[in-house]
Amino acid sequence: MSSVKLRDVRKSFGHVEVIKGVDLDIEDKEFVVFVGPSGCGKTTLLRMIAGLETITAGNLDIGGERMNEVDPSKRGIAMVFQSYALYPHMTVRENMGFALRFARVPKDEIARQVNEAARILALDPLLDRYPKQLSGGQRQRVAIGRAIVRDPEVFLFDEPLSNLDAELRVHMRIELARLHKELKTTIVYVTHDQVEAMTLADKIVVMRDGIIEQAGRPLDLYDDPANQFVAGFIGSPKMNFLAATIVEKAAGNVTLELANHGRARLTLPLTGGTVGEAVTLGVRAEHFGEAGAGGADISLDIDVAEHLGSTSYVYASAGGEALVVEREESRHENGRSHIVVSIDPERAYLFDSQGQRIR
Ligand code: ATP
Repeated sequence: MSSVKLRDVRKSFGHVEVIKGVDLDIEDKEFVVFVGPSGCGKTTLLRMIAGLETITAGNLDIGGERMNEVDPSKRGIAMVFQSYALYPHMTVRENMGFALRFARVPKDEIARQVNEAARILALDPLLDRYPKQLSGGQRQRVAIGRAIVRDPEVFLFDEPLSNLDAELRVHMRIELARLHKELKTTIVYVTHDQVEAMTLADKIVVMRDGIIEQAGRPLDLYDDPANQFVAGFIGSPKMNFLAATIVEKAAGNVTLELANHGRARLTLPLTGGTVGEAVTLGVRAEHFGEAGAGGADISLDIDVAEHLGSTSYVYASAGGEALVVEREESRHENGRSHIVVSIDPERAYLFDSQGQRIR
């Protein structure tokens, strides 16, 4: 059993509270990813689970036991850092076996475990090299191998891919997903790359300013964000936000006027809301329809179009609002300076002035 449970966990540095009451259940064998903007507390929370930071208040359980005061080495966890922290004067084999030698594990047992980790990570041909003779991705695999030989209940990763170039990052991301399948252990992973979060996580935890804004399965957060912050954070490209005002209310519907889009009007089902209220309409890039498809047609000046082959992203602006629209196969639009698209009320999100989702 390697579940992790946090209850009203808090952390203060001096008088400044940076983790402000976190409740979270990480299930046995779950791959959980913490995301959020810089400084929101992801690393601090991970370090508290590891025992590298004290817990100011609240309760941390690992495998059903309170761990608040337990020494890091006795928590059944292994942490992989962004910087890898390999010993330069030791070979890959020695680096990977170091923790076991330190724990006075018999030599043949160390060899067995190092070989097994090397097999899993395809490091066999590199075991006698030194870190400086390895690529960034290979070093990262050694750092993971060092964690694997300790056979932890829970792996903690702090932005492990951020030092790698884009291509290697994609490669290692797939490796990590494969590794999780093979090792069948609990993984807690910090990143500020929401694509990494979407592709790796069983559960994403979106943090902001020391609290959890929402936790859930990646596609649930994508389809059903709790608020404007999560809606804007999860998804690439980002959700479009359009300023709107409620101008009419009748029979379970409201009609919105889009100030920056020629006062285009859109009617959608909503029981709440008051006439005159300022709201924000949220539309994902892939949810715009062809002009005349019903809903509200808006006209956009094209700034840039990115052609990716099967699809393209049109970056456009209107009335000071920057928007991105996904278009299937839009080569014929090359050279055009504006497009008209339609907003489908069925697929639109709505947020109140506090950023809470109201539809
Ligand atoms: P990033 O994505 O930039 O790494 P993060 O979400 O991991 O950010 P943390 O590193 O956990 O954020 O930091 C959370 C807050 O706590 C920040 O405001 C940071 O300045 C503060 N903080 C972190 N460590 C300390 C410390 N040892 N002393 C004082 N303040 C700290």
